[in-house]
Amino acid sequence: MELLSGKTALITGAARGIGKSIALRLASEGADIAFTDLVEDETFKNTQREISECGVTCRGYVSDASDFEQTHEVITQILKDFGHIDVLVNNAGITRDGLLMRMSEQQWDSVLTVNLKSAFNFCHAVVPVMARQRSGSIINISSIVGVAGNAGQCNYSASKAGMIALAQSIAKEMGSRNIRANAVAPGFVMTEMTGQLPEDVLKSWCDRIPLRRGAEPDEIAKVVLFLASDLSSYVSGQVIRIDGGMS
Ligand code: NAD
Repeated sequence: MELLSGKTALITGAARGIGKSIALRLASEGADIAFTDLVEDETFKNTQREISECGVTCRGYVSDASDFEQTHEVITQILKDFGHIDVLVNNAGITRDGLLMRMSEQQWDSVLTVNLKSAFNFCHAVVPVMARQRSGSIINISSIVGVAGNAGQCNYSASKAGMIALAQSIAKEMGSRNIRANAVAPGFVMTEMTGQLPEDVLKSWCDRIPLRRGAEPDEIAKVVLFLASDLSSYVSGQVIRIDGGMS
């Protein structure tokens, strides 16, 4: 028996990277997949095709997760298409790094809006659906820097800390309706977000990781599968670090 058969999982920002890996991993356990991203380009279409090849229903939706109205509209459409939403993964995210003293208001606002407000938008639209269903699992993709902070990433770290607190608060508000909410805090993951880093920066990161390497995106996805499924039926309000022992 597959862990997620009969369930619908919604993943934001999943045309590539960690979100795509999560979608593929949940689909491999039988979940139908709704995912969002900003543009319907070749990457988006290929992802939709690859997930469908797992033998589940998959639809991609073009939607800016940071836009409150668009989010509510896309949830209405997803409910028409799938009938229910059992798992929500708030994954869409960006970085606009810089030291605090040089950080522009625009850098701060864009990161807080895309990372944290998007998670609020989707929780706001999906929690009432899960409350009616009397079940649901929400997983926020935070970061280890949301637990410990990071020089040059005040905006990103603050947004990721906010995503942890958001999950923990929803766990407390909605536990009586059988809605669980958790966060994962990946360390260094090999995706396009980190792929632009120069070789020496990459090496200095890896030197600080006991496992001496960055994570593959699927190593994040496997923990998300645990949180999405009944394997974690009594786990709520937690943040699980996936950082190769770094912290
Ligand atoms: P990525 O840049 O490869 O993918 C992010 C995806 O989100 C892209 O497809 C992008 O188009 C989409 N997106 C961006 N803004 C959006 C918006 N407003 N609406 C909808 N979609 C939007 O990044 P990734 O490395 O796969 O990261 C995924 C998540 O994991 C992010 O939240 C990131 O902060 C987090 N994370 C990444 C790492 C890492 O080392 N890569 C570590 C910890 C946490």
